[in-house]
Amino acid sequence: MWIDKEYAQARYNICKSCNNFIPAVHLCRQCGCYMKLKVKLISAECLLKKWGKYAVAKLDTVKKKLIKTNKYTIKVQDINGNVKKY
Ligand code: SF4
Repeated sequence: MWIDKEYAQARYNICKSCNNFIPAVHLCRQCGCYMKLKVKLISAECLLKKWGKYAVAKLDTVKKKLIKTNKYTIKVQDINGNVKKY
């Protein structure tokens, strides 16, 4: 139901840099959603595909670290150096 805090933050950061984001009220002009909540829902996605569903994503902050985020992907590296895209 809820994604890890790091993923939610990564999504929110994408919204914050989007022209459709209204920072004063944390709303998206495209979907009308309150983004502080929407970014936390596993099944949520940006209507413009700037971020997607990370249903299988489970970030263990001790064993893995977020290494890159862009419009479409989040890359996570585990302690063995393996990189996985979401
Ligand atoms: S959900 Fe998508 S369109 Fe809406 S503010 Fe976030 S990135 Fe922009």
